[in-house]
Amino acid sequence: MQLTNRSKHLEKKPMTLAERAYLPAILTGMGITLKHFFSKKATIRYPEELRPMSPTFRGLHVLKRDEVGRERCTACGLCAVACPAEAITMVAGERKKGEEGLYREEKYAVSYEINMLRCIFCGLCEEACPKAAIYLQADKMAPPRFERDEFTYGKDRLVEPVDPSARSKRGIQLTPEQAEALARRMAGME
Ligand code: SF4
Ligand code: SF4
Repeated sequence: MQLTNRSKHLEKKPMTLAERAYLPAILTGMGITLKHFFSKKATIRYPEELRPMSPTFRGLHVLKRDEVGRERCTACGLCAVACPAEAITMVAGERKKGEEGLYREEKYAVSYEINMLRCIFCGLCEEACPKAAIYLQADKMAPPRFERDEFTYGKDRLVEPVDPSARSKRGIQLTPEQAEALARRMAGME
């Protein structure tokens, strides 16, 4: 039974020789490829190239020093408490006599670690810090690595580096471990 009279009987046209050789389809495909080849690329060669970042971008953390090069962090743990991803761990220690040039407060972070695989770069640690010790940098991201362990950033990679030539002027006395960590950090920046 025919419901409407709109049906149309189609006849299958025989293909031309060019169509049978797929030539128009190949040329159309090549045209699309060429158009995209010369058009502006949507991708970049990360990590060699970086996209311009917003000034409010929250990237890799840095543990700041004060104006005379001492570590600001007093290992109070407020950043770790504020962190929703539980990415921060630290061990607090007491500053010894003679270390006044190294640590600003009587208590300091013997170790301080951030797991960048857990971190969601929310910036709450920065807001919670009463000592203006931790900041998320606007122009730096955690670079890509191949091993999971390499995403755990310790003090050697988090503490703001000091210019070794300015160290004597500032009167900073580094322990051998700190000097070694600093040298590793500076070598990594070259
Ligand atoms: S940026 Fe957010 S998630 Fe990352 S360590 Fe700080 S508080 Fe935790
Ligand atoms: S970074 Fe700031 S909030 Fe975190 S332990 Fe150090 S002083 Fe406290």
